[in-house]
Amino acid sequence: MPDATGREFTSMTVTELQAALRDGATAAEVTHAYLDRIASDDGTLGSYLHVDPEAALERAAAVDASGAAGSGLAGIPVALKDVIVTEGVPTTSGSKILEGWAPPYDATVAARLKAADTVLLGKTNMDEFAMGSSTENSAYGITRNPWDLERIPGGSSGGSSAAVAAGLAPWAIGTDTGGSIRQPAALTGLVGHKPTYGSVSRYGLIAFSSSLDQAGPMARTVLDAALLHEAIGGHDPLDSTSIDAPLPVLAECARRGADGDLAGLTVGVVRELGGQGHTDGYEPGVLARVAEAVALLESMGAEVREVSCPAFDLALPAYYLIAPSEASSNLSRFDGVRYGLRVGDDGTRDLDEVMALTREQGFGPEVKRRIILGTYALSSGYYEAYYGQAQKVRTLISRDFSAAFDAGDGAGVDVLVSPTTPTVAFPLGSRVDDPVAMYAADLCTLPASLAGVPAISVPCGLSDGLPVGFQIMAPALADDRCYQVAAALEAALDAARGSRFLDQLPRPAAQPVGGAA
Ligand code: GLN
Repeated sequence: MPDATGREFTSMTVTELQAALRDGATAAEVTHAYLDRIASDDGTLGSYLHVDPEAALERAAAVDASGAAGSGLAGIPVALKDVIVTEGVPTTSGSKILEGWAPPYDATVAARLKAADTVLLGKTNMDEFAMGSSTENSAYGITRNPWDLERIPGGSSGGSSAAVAAGLAPWAIGTDTGGSIRQPAALTGLVGHKPTYGSVSRYGLIAFSSSLDQAGPMARTVLDAALLHEAIGGHDPLDSTSIDAPLPVLAECARRGADGDLAGLTVGVVRELGGQGHTDGYEPGVLARVAEAVALLESMGAEVREVSCPAFDLALPAYYLIAPSEASSNLSRFDGVRYGLRVGDDGTRDLDEVMALTREQGFGPEVKRRIILGTYALSSGYYEAYYGQAQKVRTLISRDFSAAFDAGDGAGVDVLVSPTTPTVAFPLGSRVDDPVAMYAADLCTLPASLAGVPAISVPCGLSDGLPVGFQIMAPALADDRCYQVAAALEAALDAARGSRFLDQLPRPAAQPVGGAA
């Protein structure tokens, strides 16, 4: 239904939806509009694993009845990546091994959104246990990129990215272990932020790599992302790694950033992420858009300099030892006894056999690869050579960040920037048989993950008609700086274009679908 400006609910930002609700639209109408889009377009896109229209409409009606709609986030629909446990709502983490499991409790992120009276639309598709960069590792089928239905929507939060970009949710929660919020956001033209590690609760996120996992917002604008981040962030006693400090003010920073005054800000362009001598694997179209974005920041008063972070070159091998090591330990809880799938329990087999059969059938190939890799890296005799070395590299990466941010004599930078991904969205199927090519999609996002610092991806233009993401990284707990700089860039690009980035996206239902799946 169009509002006074002619925009449909499904193409509005959340701030516009809030205004529409205050102006008399109901949460039920807004929810209906999104459910209609899901019904008409998700057969093609495959962005949701679970939608319960009745439950969503019931909840929306309750919010309307309470008179809360339009205040704060009340009545705003939201989608959650299926790695987030939701009480009584099926949660699979994209895996067969959790098929049929309905959790008995809510993750803190889900509980906070519930308490804010948002309306859950559904759970979104993802690479199994968040392992992947294309959403092709889901046990429940692929998700398509609404910009080009023959291409991937990024991963592992590809269901969330496709849903928000295509108007099947106004915003969504993703999780990012090595890039899974920022990379899919970049490839679908969204804003995606990985918060400072420990600043958003991990309680109730199905664990992949506990020292890296963070939930965060995926949205159509920087301000929306900041609003969603504020709703989920902050200390949680149920997560032992939760930071006991107030969240910085984010939405206000995004609003202020849109003024476009960056005087006094120093921006470091990371040489190792697509800079001179480091362009192997980077598409020229991506590098061109990123260079233009840097020039734009400079024109808004920022001081720009190149910064070298030599250990970033080792982020990929370090991550692919640390993440699988932690995963091999975390995934041991899926034993065929406690959750979901159980295979071969016919009274003739012992526990070990049932466990082996369940894990054999319940886990997909990428998950098995990581468990084997991780178990090997942690085994006695190899531990120091692999896991120990990777942890040392992790320290070196953190030191590179500190050196860039904290250099004395005014030589430090306020933020570091880079492309979010080396390439635009690649064709479905093109990397599934080449894990190393798939892993390379995370080249630019891994350093911030390993160091635990915040990083945002904001659209900075198109290359070959596909979105390019610009990454802004800041020191730990300075998430507000990411939002401020991203908002300045977004406002300048929107003004130059005369429209919002996503307004360029053709409705996916209008595109033909080939046989790539
Ligand atoms: N693509 C990376 C991986 O496969 C990162 C995934 C993530 O951030 N969840 O591990």
